[in-house]
Amino acid sequence: MHRRHFLATAPLAGLGMAAGSLPVLAASHGATTGQVPAVQRFSVGDIIVTCLGDGGLHIGPDALIGIDASGYDTLMAEQFHDPETFTAAVNAFAIQTGDETILIDAGAAGAMGDTLGQLGGNLEAAGIDPASVTKLIATHLHPDHVAGMLNESGPAFPQAEFMVSETERAFWSDEANFSGQPQMVLDFMKLAQNVLSAYSDNLTTFEGEASVASGVTALPLPGHTPGHTGFMVSSGDAQLLIWADIVHVTPVQFARPDVAIGFDVDPDQAVATRQQILDRVATDRLRVAGSHIGFPGVANVAREGEGYRMVAAPWDYSL
Ligand SMILES: [Zn+2]
Repeated sequence: MHRRHFLATAPLAGLGMAAGSLPVLAASHGATTGQVPAVQRFSVGDIIVTCLGDGGLHIGPDALIGIDASGYDTLMAEQFHDPETFTAAVNAFAIQTGDETILIDAGAAGAMGDTLGQLGGNLEAAGIDPASVTKLIATHLHPDHVAGMLNESGPAFPQAEFMVSETERAFWSDEANFSGQPQMVLDFMKLAQNVLSAYSDNLTTFEGEASVASGVTALPLPGHTPGHTGFMVSSGDAQLLIWADIVHVTPVQFARPDVAIGFDVDPDQAVATRQQILDRVATDRLRVAGSHIGFPGVANVAREGEGYRMVAAPWDYSL
């Protein structure tokens, strides 16, 4: 399944397809068996938010904190997922306000294996030229969100102002925060520092609930990382909360928000933040977009039992 996703979109990157063309149909000769480009648009008032798939990543019970394999298997089966192959999406989101093209995160590029790294081809299929991106905003500095911000020559979005929370920038910049950490975490730190340095000429940090663009406001969601941030997109009466990594494993963490993931810098705080934000979006009936909610990554949240239930957003027929 992973392999088919990869093969389906890999040709897009190499062919330099013109923006707005029909890349899969044009690029394939004979039967097409993979997915078409993973691009889906949602309107939020006058703003268009586009989910751009980067691929997917298997997350098994060993990566989770607070649930054992049998509890994981049970929740997967209840929601018709195969626990052996459950694949969490990795999504990025473009926000087009009319004045600006903003990209929230940029996928993993080649940093986490060949089931990821599809953002470039999907941006192209969406007709978004990397050079047209005015603001490149990181929800946090983990590799599945920022490795795609770099290419061989440095910044992959050369015209963009790079924006990240000051708390996040400071955390990854201070090597004292990582003494005694395993090599994988040190590699995360190195990549975060490389991204910060590649964009250092055009870097802006924000703190608290800051406005980062017209209609886009930062919302600190600490725990997964210290400066982990969501973004509220607002236009008229319409709102969408891009909540980044509030949930990594949808079949588990909506039902059991108390389950954390090994990548959380502060698992207890991550759980508290998840509980708080799930309560808020369920109460307010606020639609959310998630980095790891199955493509196209947009959903509502309903209360169910002691936890919550995800309801995938409908296709937007208004576009
Ligand atoms: Zn993530």
